[in-house]
Amino acid sequence: MRTPVPDYLQEVLDDCGASTDGAVADYIPELAAADPDRLAVAVASLEGPVHSAGDADVRFTIQSISKPFAYALALRDRGLDRVLESVGVEPSGDAFNEISLEPDTGRPRNPMINVGAIVTHSLVGDPGLTPDERDAATLEGLSAFAARPLEVDEAVFASEMETAHRNLALGHLVRGNGIVQEDPVRLVEGYTRQCSLAVDVRDLAVMAATLANGGVNPVSGEEVVAPWVARQTLSVMATCGMYDAAGDWFTSVGIPAKSGVAGGIIGALPGQVGLGVFSPRLDRFGNSARGVDICQRLSRDMGMHVMAAPATSATVIRRHEVVDGRTILELQGAIHYAAAEHVLRVMETIEPGSGPVLLDLSRVTDVNDVGGRMAEEGVRRLELDGHDVEVVTPEHLGRS
Ligand code: GLU
Repeated sequence: MRTPVPDYLQEVLDDCGASTDGAVADYIPELAAADPDRLAVAVASLEGPVHSAGDADVRFTIQSISKPFAYALALRDRGLDRVLESVGVEPSGDAFNEISLEPDTGRPRNPMINVGAIVTHSLVGDPGLTPDERDAATLEGLSAFAARPLEVDEAVFASEMETAHRNLALGHLVRGNGIVQEDPVRLVEGYTRQCSLAVDVRDLAVMAATLANGGVNPVSGEEVVAPWVARQTLSVMATCGMYDAAGDWFTSVGIPAKSGVAGGIIGALPGQVGLGVFSPRLDRFGNSARGVDICQRLSRDMGMHVMAAPATSATVIRRHEVVDGRTILELQGAIHYAAAEHVLRVMETIEPGSGPVLLDLSRVTDVNDVGGRMAEEGVRRLELDGHDVEVVTPEHLGRS
């Protein structure tokens, strides 16, 4: 059997491909030369395989999609407090290249607008790095997210620097305000090199899947960033990732995402998948027009909205019966707070002194920290009630 996923992806491209709405970005001369008809999609699972359709081998520059990954590297290298000191986490409601800082703190509002991304770039790597070393650290870090060595598209880099007047103004602004202490021109060059990395949709899907997977790259197996870094980055993507259309995007697609002016979009659905989409024509917000259509369609078809309510926690009880005086409680699926609370309510109904209890966890797939602690406390209290409790724990859970 051949998996139907690539056929499904091709069908989505066929359905969404006809539109010619929008226009290719032209403020960077080299981007204006892009073939507007290119169209590609890739979906990376958290177990490694990546499915794709369309122009999946065509490379384009990552542009603003580099911002969440540089943010993740800065968090990893400098810690949350240091990064928050220099860059906030509030949506700006302004254009991506707006010349604005938070009035009270003087910080850029968030790391997804250019001024915030320029400051964030300055925080990648150890504090003592030279600009060249920091460029290398950025390249290495983004390559670890992609599970392959990425390269700068030098033609796009040179073209963007020729017209980078606004970004240079932002660099001077944050240098003038003392938010960064270094040469602003070299800093903007470093940021622009970061934006000029060439990727394809499969790279984007794997990079997004690494965030969706709590920081572990599903292709290489490398822990690129810690789980808290991935969570912080996804949260900022959810609130600030899609330029001025962040609210519209989050309600209709419901996947933490980031887009770039070359026409790429990533989406990262925690615990499920990473998406990469490419189509160069942009809508009035600067997001890939057909890319947004494709993501809406995928989210709808595949039930990917993060705010969709998950299955009820009552399904955690697979079996509850009394056999020869022994209460058997067999659980299944994931044990998080709501599931564990349900189990505790079932345990509460077991009469004190009514005989032994068997808690069978063989079919439990996952236990988070609070779920595990609640279940352990339930067992302890059953024992205090005079029950002899036997717990069957499968090896993959590793809890006693
Ligand atoms: N390098 C581009 C810039 O700073 C990125 C913009 C984007 O993709 O939104 O203008």
